[in-house]
This record gives sequence, structure tokens and C-alpha cells, in this order.
Amino acid sequence: MKRGLLIVFSGPSGVGKGTVLSKLMQMSDLDLVYSVSMTTRAPRQGEKDGINYFFVSEERFKEAIYDNELLEHAYFVDHYYGTPKAYVEKMRNEGHNVVLEIETVGSKQIMNAYKYDDRCISIFLTPPDMKELEARIRKRSTESEKTIEKRVLKATQELRETFRYKYVVCNEDVDDAVEKIADIIKENIAK
Ligand code: 5GP
Repeated sequence: MKRGLLIVFSGPSGVGKGTVLSKLMQMSDLDLVYSVSMTTRAPRQGEKDGINYFFVSEERFKEAIYDNELLEHAYFVDHYYGTPKAYVEKMRNEGHNVVLEIETVGSKQIMNAYKYDDRCISIFLTPPDMKELEARIRKRSTESEKTIEKRVLKATQELRETFRYKYVVCNEDVDDAVEKIADIIKENIAK
């Protein structure tokens, strides 16, 4: 049996990663599993512990780093985020394709660690334009104006990192983006 793919999926806040991913996750032929990250940020309305994230204290997060429980981690707009290692390895060994929805600093760590793993691929989702993206960050955010501004600035910085990714897909139309990404995944499953 082939090892499952490790799929790094990034894109700036507000680009629609969640929507695109939830549609991809419904495609059973892709056999995708979502890696639930650990974070120190507070849950947003409707977010559930163990489903959207493992919401932990800073102390617990640092312990996870120290104990080498994380595949990568990063500090993003005032909070820590990281990928628990054990689940990713287990799922890949069982042949499932694991999606890491992570920002660019952590992605770089993964790309380095897995540079000789040809079953690790990276996909970056870009917005059609910056104004629209800013509006989406504002609309969605339950956070303060200062946090919103930081997220907008971060989005511009992250867009400069697209060159590191193997595939770049524009989210002009959600269904189109989903179809393109599904094709990329199928092509790599078959390799
Ligand atoms: P949010 O707070 O909006 O849920 O996530 C902020 C950013 O952190 C997003 O770009 C998201 O993809 C990223 N992120 C979520 N989980 C992880 C993780 O485990 N590691 C890293 N490096 N980034 C993550």
C-alpha cells in the first residue's frame, strides 16, 4: 500500500480556505483526513475543541514543543499554532491523505523536513484581489481592530511566499478552485 500524501494547504486569512477544504473533504475518492492543530488562541463562535482546533494554554503548547509532539509550529498574530505529529504519521501509514491547513512559516518547516518525500505536496490559495480579502477578514473577525489590521498585514506578507509552493490556485470561483485542487490531489495520489 502506498503511503498517504501529506498536503500542505496555505493561503491568507479570509481567502476561503475553510470553504474550499470542506468541499474537498466531502469528496470520498480523495480520502482526505484533516489534521486538527493545537492553538493558544481562543475559540471563535461555533468552534469546537478537538474538531476545529485543540485549544490549549500557552504552557501546554510549550510543553508540546519541548516534548517534540509537533511536526511544525509557528507564532501567528499573537498566538501559537502547531501540528500534532502522531496523528499525521498514523493516517499516512494507513494510506490516508492528510491535509495540513497551516500558515507560511510552519509550511516552510514542513517543506524542509519533507523535501525528499515525493508524497508531500504544497498548495497555496490566492485571493482574486486584496480589497475583497480585507473586507472578508473584517466581516469574519470577532477580534479587535488591532488584530484585524495585523491579519491584513500578515495576508500581504503571506502572499509574497507563494513562490515556495508547488501549486498556486486562485479562489476566483469556489467550485473552480475546488475542482482544480481535487485534480492536483488525484494526479498525485496516482503517482
Ligand atoms: P485562524 O486563527 O484564522 O484559525 O488561523 C490563523 C492561521 O494559522 C491560518 O493561516 C491557519 O492556516 C494557520 N494555522 C492553523 N493551524 C496551524 C498549525 O498547526 N500550524 C501552523 N503553522 N499554522 C496553522
